Amino acid sequence: MTSEPDMLPPVSSLPAWLVPSVYLNWSEDWLREAVAVATGGNEHLLPRGADGPQRGDVVVTVVGSDPGIVASVELMGTTQGEDWIADELFGPDKPVLWDDLFSGASAYARSSGWLPQEHARLVLDGIAGQFRNGATGTLEPGDCETGRLSPNLHVLRLLGHRQITGADLRHEERCYSCEQFVDVTELRPHDDGARAAGKDGAAPRDLNRLIGDTYLVCDPCHELLHPHPIGAQRARMRPACPSCHSRGTAKRIVWNEAIHDEMHLQHDVVYGGFDVPVPTPEWYCPQCHANFATGVVGTRALGGATAIPPAPVDLDVAPPVEVPAMPEI
Ligand SMILES: [Zn+2]
Ligand SMILES: [Zn+2]
Ligand SMILES: [Zn+2]
Repeated sequence: MTSEPDMLPPVSSLPAWLVPSVYLNWSEDWLREAVAVATGGNEHLLPRGADGPQRGDVVVTVVGSDPGIVASVELMGTTQGEDWIADELFGPDKPVLWDDLFSGASAYARSSGWLPQEHARLVLDGIAGQFRNGATGTLEPGDCETGRLSPNLHVLRLLGHRQITGADLRHEERCYSCEQFVDVTELRPHDDGARAAGKDGAAPRDLNRLIGDTYLVCDPCHELLHPHPIGAQRARMRPACPSCHSRGTAKRIVWNEAIHDEMHLQHDVVYGGFDVPVPTPEWYCPQCHANFATGVVGTRALGGATAIPPAPVDLDVAPPVEVPAMPEI
């Protein structure tokens, strides 16, 4: 195995006039900024104005809080009205932690502005070093059972999307569990390795392992992954309405049952009466009043024409009797 010779000297060994001016752009809006960078979207905010970066300057965008994740390194190019167009966008191919760039980097946490020349050099060298050799540290993954998972890990998962899936992050991604498309800013990161790591005696996981253990799932799926009451699960198992797509609110329709005083009425079903339509809908959507059936089993071989789901029918008979919601036990 041949070791690759260092083609470029570290920035810190270059004369001062060769080192670009570096602007630190630390964004508090970590979710929006991470999605913007990961999708290559133009919502990514660069500093503007006469005091801001000019052509040829380098902007380092960092998101989150300690230790801070380097989301992008950009060489400023041409202006377009008020907005800058960056010629080169580096990253976010590999995780780079701000705190580990040089000793003293943490003093810049959550601030934006020009870096002094000597720190600009250390920052650029540090980024190149972590990019080449991997980040030296790891981070606290947080606990997605009780609260939000660490924003830092969430950001790293978004920025590392290409590494995991081989494709760029889109504004809508499939929930890893139910495979429905969801706005990527609404997907929850789920740390699937947390339990195993706990059993192993909580050995710290390196960044790549942490990112690989983290899955983007929709809210209802995330709820199912963690302890929750039966009532919540019952709601979540209800089919999504094929008409208005709302989830978790469909009520089962009970047919052919008379309501009388001694009955224990179930709180999230509706009573359809005795005039049973054919085909018989099983579910009622209180949001848009559609009723629909589930369990339509496709019999065609995969790869054939796609099955067309039955269109939801509007109730043209008397609306079903809704039982008032009872408090969950
Ligand atoms: Zn899901
Ligand atoms: Zn979780
Ligand atoms: Zn509906």
